[in-house]
Amino acid sequence: MLISDGGTADTSLTSQKAFAILGNEYRAEIIRTLGDEQGTEGPRPVLSFSELYSKSGVDIGTSQFNYHLQKLVGPFIDKTEDGYRLRYRAVTLYRTILAGTYTREAYIEDFKVGVDCYYCDAPIEARYADRRFTILCSECGQEYSDTTAPPSIDEGDHDALLNRMDQYIRHRILAFSKGVCSICANELRTQFLIGDDLAVPGSEQLDVFVHRSCDHCGAQQYMSVGLSLLYNSSLIAFFQERDLDVTTTPTWELEFAMTDRFVDIRSSDPWKIALCVEQGGDELELVVDGDLTVLD
Ligand SMILES: [Zn+2]
Ligand SMILES: [Zn+2]
Repeated sequence: MLISDGGTADTSLTSQKAFAILGNEYRAEIIRTLGDEQGTEGPRPVLSFSELYSKSGVDIGTSQFNYHLQKLVGPFIDKTEDGYRLRYRAVTLYRTILAGTYTREAYIEDFKVGVDCYYCDAPIEARYADRRFTILCSECGQEYSDTTAPPSIDEGDHDALLNRMDQYIRHRILAFSKGVCSICANELRTQFLIGDDLAVPGSEQLDVFVHRSCDHCGAQQYMSVGLSLLYNSSLIAFFQERDLDVTTTPTWELEFAMTDRFVDIRSSDPWKIALCVEQGGDELELVVDGDLTVLD
């Protein structure tokens, strides 16, 4: 089933044209007014022209207001018999703006996450700068997690922030580890890359990286073999039976996901890589091929 975004008109736009239509303060105000009207529940509201004009509180006359409104009708707003309603693509835009992605700055001081570095024993810290949330060693600089996040993450205390960020990062890891782009829902290309062969900063941090990239939107992610198998059902069950819930334990507390100490490259042509984890005196071995399909 295809899920449509509610409109029937052909409103295909080039990205340049879409940015141009939105690049106007009155049009932004129209989208904000319709978005605010919805609040956090209920269907998308429909406002008549006069309601929309008065609620927008803009300092232009009705004909100029209508001119800007009509630029949005089609691509971003539906005109119904009762008035005007945001299309879902404009709802997405509205929420992204409210998350502060393009507007706010957040200042979060570096803080310790309560785990020591797996390489040098110094405390691991969380940092947030330029929309990047990073978990890394305060001494040797080893990076354990790196993700983009909007500045709206800066609410609550450190524990609450870490819990939310762990889940936020997981939703991306889950999609990526299943071969799906978390941004545009397209299929990802998967390849193993040997750390020594990579000429990028941080490439020395693992023996082998799982690299997944999206031909559609350009998103890409490097992750450890352990992290990419975090949602394998056998692995989850193995730890669950030994009193460790890997679906809620922060990823940076899981050594098998943060290091390559449990990874063994058995063959590179074709790829055969083993992850052997331990818990409660027992072992679980998963062997994967080049597509990350578990063979054994
Ligand atoms: Zn360290
Ligand atoms: Zn994508």
